[in-house]
Amino acid sequence: MTANSITVNGTDYRWPQRPVVVVCIDGGDPEYIEHGVAAGIIPNIERYMREGFHAVAHGTMPSFTCPNNMSIVTGRPASVHGISGNFYLNRATNQPVVMTGPELLRVNSVMSEFSRHGARVVSVTAKDKLRRQLQKGMDLANGSISFSSQHADRCTMEENGIEDALEFVGQPLPDMYSADLSLFVLDAGLRLLEERRPNILYLSLTDFIQHAYAPGHPEADRFYAEMDVRFGRFEALGATVALTADHGMNEKTNDDGTPCVVWLQDLLDAEFGEGASTVICPIADAFVGHHGALGGFVRVYCREGLSSERVIDAIREVPGLERVLSREDVAREFDLPVGPEGDVAVLGDVRTVIGAREVDHDLSGLKGHRLRTHGSVHEADVPIILNRPVSDEYARGAEDARLHSYQAFDYAFNGIVD
Ligand SMILES: [Zn+2]
Repeated sequence: MTANSITVNGTDYRWPQRPVVVVCIDGGDPEYIEHGVAAGIIPNIERYMREGFHAVAHGTMPSFTCPNNMSIVTGRPASVHGISGNFYLNRATNQPVVMTGPELLRVNSVMSEFSRHGARVVSVTAKDKLRRQLQKGMDLANGSISFSSQHADRCTMEENGIEDALEFVGQPLPDMYSADLSLFVLDAGLRLLEERRPNILYLSLTDFIQHAYAPGHPEADRFYAEMDVRFGRFEALGATVALTADHGMNEKTNDDGTPCVVWLQDLLDAEFGEGASTVICPIADAFVGHHGALGGFVRVYCREGLSSERVIDAIREVPGLERVLSREDVAREFDLPVGPEGDVAVLGDVRTVIGAREVDHDLSGLKGHRLRTHGSVHEADVPIILNRPVSDEYARGAEDARLHSYQAFDYAFNGIVD
């Protein structure tokens, strides 16, 4: 026996008549889709856009992976789900607190709530750091499954709802830094849809390709063509296919191709002295991260004696810094939980990233590539594409106001015309 609908975080979701596959194309800037359609390399997506539904939606700010994945799967903004970066600063200890685990996630995902009401759900993510957030509250006792391609060789029934995932998918463990890490997620979803016919699949990829290659680069084209073939297979298996992204991607370089960076901690230390403030780059996995850990959004935490007004006055005219906002203003404007915010939030312009101290960021990982990354409002636009048309009401809703990507599940579950 199944319910007609399930209420999750204030939204009623219809019990799906056919499997729903929601794919989060990590770093899936709308420009890749535009280019792919123009180049004729993504015929399935092109057809969905023509015969189904498509819109460019607002993503969650900051335009990072975890906050946006949580917005998509919970159907709510960051002020509700609580995840606004990879970590924030605990002022009492002056130590970073990791936000990528399930502990700080305040609400459950649509998948988790459906699993608790008897649905079979599947959550597969490329990188394991997202997995535990995605499966928070998920009931794995009724055939639901949650694992990452990164750790597909370590699955247990207890933790993941599946064993021998590599054997099941029929592929070796993909390389951590490769397009294959994402394609494995899609292939795992296809195999599970064929074999186990789950009600809901959430498939979250990695932005390795988009960080490295601009739209139109042969590597990016190949990746999009490979994805498109798989989206066609999901549809052929009878699924509703919904495509969205966590954030876009822009090149962040000077005219000579070198990374365009404002080293904010160095600036603040020169102005106010070392230890007066702490810059946290919430795109990073740690203080020092791969790919330079550089993005278009950072938080400044002031120590006693330094006011946010003085920080704002000192840096508001720095070239490349587009917005310098107080804690209250950034939380209000971008619908963020105020607790983890710093005293000042700093946003880069379209070509500028913001780092902490130059000496702490390792840029050797670029290996000659031009820096491409995200975090600012310029990477917050994401596509929502469905393979089926939506009702007049939902079509009007998309025309009247720009959608938010946290409405992707709502459109896929409630908007489509069955
Ligand atoms: Zn991402």
